[in-house]
Amino acid sequence: MGLKCKRNNFYVAVRNPVYCGKILIVKYKDEAAHTVKGLHDGIISESLFYDVQDILSGKKREEKTKVHSPDMLPLRGFIKCSRCSRILCGSASKGRNGYYYYYHCSSACGCRYKAEEVNKVFDQVIEEFTIQEEYADLFTEVIRDTYKNQNTTTLASRSELLKEINELNNRTSKARELLLNGDIDGADYKTIKSENEYKVNVLEAKLSEAAAANSKTANIEPLLRPAISKLTRLNTIYSKSDSSNKRELIGSMYPQKFTFEELQHRTALTSELYSCIYLINSEIKGKKEGQATDFSCLPILAPEPGLEPAMFLLIVKSKISQKTQYKQ
Ligand SMILES: [Zn+2]
Repeated sequence: MGLKCKRNNFYVAVRNPVYCGKILIVKYKDEAAHTVKGLHDGIISESLFYDVQDILSGKKREEKTKVHSPDMLPLRGFIKCSRCSRILCGSASKGRNGYYYYYHCSSACGCRYKAEEVNKVFDQVIEEFTIQEEYADLFTEVIRDTYKNQNTTTLASRSELLKEINELNNRTSKARELLLNGDIDGADYKTIKSENEYKVNVLEAKLSEAAAANSKTANIEPLLRPAISKLTRLNTIYSKSDSSNKRELIGSMYPQKFTFEELQHRTALTSELYSCIYLINSEIKGKKEGQATDFSCLPILAPEPGLEPAMFLLIVKSKISQKTQYKQ
């Protein structure tokens, strides 16, 4: 059935460096291949869940915006000026009925927004990134399927790799025989041997990557439910967080600064996890309202090596339509 292939593609599509981290380093040309072991999560789902856990437990993230912000200005340091690209400052001005907060540009360009208005838009954004309770199972299943499929792929590719390694070793042995029989000279043998060794190194590096990925598969279940459960409470968690935790979360959602306009139009670039949630939520919403979802301006479409947006969208859509059909 066609579904299997689709799941596989789904995996391929979502398996990009943001998910799986930097995997092994296979150098070509000047340097021999080598493996970097144990530093990375080889599987999207797991690292994705670690991400979630990190975010929610308030662990430090990279590219953190180090600005102390009062509670009214959680987005300070994240928004850039749409006129001159400076990072907007935040400040309060005293009015008749207390303080008024603003995000504003430090240049003379005059860019200035009421903090209340910006924060409100951001609250809506958070809502859109929250997994709806009733679809927690769907989300869980998409991830689990992707994960399982990845494992199957891993096993298949492992036996393929082993076969290739064997073949290369056989060829080296044969070359040795030829050398002993005097059919080739020492220089030829050396060339053949080192070429084969190089190839074997590359394959072994791949093999150990596959093995590492494989060994982590068993750990997904304990992570899956709690992570998804937290994501169904993202809105509450955000609203109850203090400013510093809010900023931690914002930083994890948005790897780059964005303008207020981009935030309003939902075109600010989000990290992969949140792009996925947004995508799935949009698709569900589209289904409910009986309209096709317009994915054309999704932030997930930012070019990432290894990510095939068209395929990803296709798979998510097919998954969701499968699930929602029998629900109705
Ligand atoms: Zn400006």
